[in-house]
Amino acid sequence: MTVSLGVTGATGRMGGEVLAAAVDRDDLSVAFAVSRSPGDEVEGVAVEGAADFADLLASRAPDVVVDFTGPGSCIEYASACAEAGVGFVTGTTGLSEGGFDALRESASEVPVLYASNFSRGIAALRRAVREAVPALDGYDIELTETHHNAKRDAPSGTALTILDDIDEARGESPRVHGREGEAPRSEGEVGVHARRAGDIAGEHEVLLAGNHESLSLTHRAGSRGVFAAGALDAAAWLSDRDAGWYDFTEVLE
Ligand code: NAD
Repeated sequence: MTVSLGVTGATGRMGGEVLAAAVDRDDLSVAFAVSRSPGDEVEGVAVEGAADFADLLASRAPDVVVDFTGPGSCIEYASACAEAGVGFVTGTTGLSEGGFDALRESASEVPVLYASNFSRGIAALRRAVREAVPALDGYDIELTETHHNAKRDAPSGTALTILDDIDEARGESPRVHGREGEAPRSEGEVGVHARRAGDIAGEHEVLLAGNHESLSLTHRAGSRGVFAAGALDAAAWLSDRDAGWYDFTEVLE
């Protein structure tokens, strides 16, 4: 039995990667793909209009929808899935607090899994950060992320997740986003830097420095395929879960 998927944002960068990875897997099948700009096929899958989403949920009955779109559409797709009883995996970033509340509301009806990053390397980086921060008490911390020039939100969702990890490890720290002019570092702050250039899939560096030494923990995604593979693992895992809010670390465990 394959797990059947609905894919949103099918004409986007991540949507295309998800479809490419899904058609290659024996344990998954694609029930439908939607985009707000439908038309051609992507990876041999016909792309239908996003306006038909609720009808497609009813007629094609996927087990799980995989979403990489924008904050507004992510919430709309999740609530349609909640109504239709279909699980929802999303990697869409840039959600507001209200957006997360709405997503959690859907999780009371169906299984919902959100991850700001679906790579195993980032999961390992996060574990390393949670270990390094308390071990290097008092060291300065700077976080730098680099993404392609079309990324909308800054800092990245992954950077925000890592910042929360740092707060958890050493207490809440003031975040300073970039520096300009007279801007000396104050004790305990975390510097946050977002670079946008070319077609870089995603890089994150956590730098800890003090006591005449520095430690740099860096992750580079070689291609978006790594995120698609993780999201599909999450979808397969989520397909037989009860309603609730799930995290990618649970899939890896
Ligand atoms: P993209 O711009 O290439 O694609 C987005 C797609 O969503 C497009 O097809 C667009 O038409 C569609 N879309 C956007 N707003 C919509 C709306 N209101 N209604 C219907 N469709 C809409 O972007 P991308 O690079 O594929 O990234 C998509 C999202 O995934 C971003 O939030 C990005 O940060 C996130 N992302 C997450 C991970 C992860 O591992 N969690 C990895 C990469 C990207």
